[in-house]
Amino acid sequence: MLILMEAGATAEQMRAVLETLESAGVRAVVQDGAEALNILAPHASKALKPDRLETMGGVRKVVPITSPFKLASSDSAPGRTVVEVRGVKIGGPDLALAAGPCGVESREQLFATARYVAEQGVKLLRAGAFKPRTSPYSFQGLGLEGLQLLEEARAEFDLGIVTEATEIETFDEVERSADLIQIGARNMQNFALLKRAGRSERPVLLKRGPAATLEEWLYAAEYVLSEGNRNVILCERGIRTWSDHARNTLDVSVVPAAKALTHLPVMVDPSHATGRRDLVIPCARAAVAVGADGLLVETHCHPEKALSDGPQALLPSDFIHLVDQCRAIHVVLKKAEQSSGFAF
Ligand code: PEP
Ligand code: MN
Repeated sequence: MLILMEAGATAEQMRAVLETLESAGVRAVVQDGAEALNILAPHASKALKPDRLETMGGVRKVVPITSPFKLASSDSAPGRTVVEVRGVKIGGPDLALAAGPCGVESREQLFATARYVAEQGVKLLRAGAFKPRTSPYSFQGLGLEGLQLLEEARAEFDLGIVTEATEIETFDEVERSADLIQIGARNMQNFALLKRAGRSERPVLLKRGPAATLEEWLYAAEYVLSEGNRNVILCERGIRTWSDHARNTLDVSVVPAAKALTHLPVMVDPSHATGRRDLVIPCARAAVAVGADGLLVETHCHPEKALSDGPQALLPSDFIHLVDQCRAIHVVLKKAEQSSGFAF
């Protein structure tokens, strides 16, 4: 249930509602709504009838949460969630951009890439220090040294850091260095890792598994949310289909489909979705047009020398085009939505 309080509800009325929920054995959290505070009590309908709460002082309305995604569903929050990552608001009116190399390879490579990313006004740097690779013989990332370099890049270029946690063993270290913790596609159903991310104070970027349905993806988000972390961003990164002209197939329609079901922001990674540099910009444009809240893009100062994902890394000059074009599309989209009064 979502219990919407009156704008003028007193602290005492709020306490009374919380006590009623507690004595029925229901876990509840107080949230800030657009107009007033509200109380989210995901499993309350099992223990209490809505009118028991609706008749209490200070309560405006009780909305049942019929969705199985008790914390991720649109009806569990009074509006869309905006996740703030080092000052960047993801899920709000602006297009959020995070960019950088697939992996941290050296100070020289990271800084050279971070420099032109920052010059475009992009505020978030992505790069893995721990890399989940298909082959055990491929570059696995610099590990702790990579995290150290990311921290240095943050200080040097004033960028927020997006980096992946691949396992419980090194989660604490990643958590200390990251501003946004990425859970990779392969780990989307690593439930122990999801629960650990749910106990983190850091926001979480949850990639969609390469073969996951929208429902499975939202249940994965539910694992993080149900441990207490309310700052979850979904990220579509392409799924495995029979189409073999690209590394994966960008599921464009999942963006509005996810946004209809959940209040969480949805980003798109056009790099892993295509695996091909020449397809990244067109797919990024499509993602923005379809309503993505942001993009996660791979770019490298020398893609031909990249230790991972070189073929999909944008050249610096291409990256500038992507940023310009995607921002322009986003402005047009927002204007059209405002003037028509019709928005997704
Ligand atoms: C990455 O972002 O570099 C990555 C490994 O992504 P994914 O988990 O989507 O494959
Ligand atoms: Mn990559």
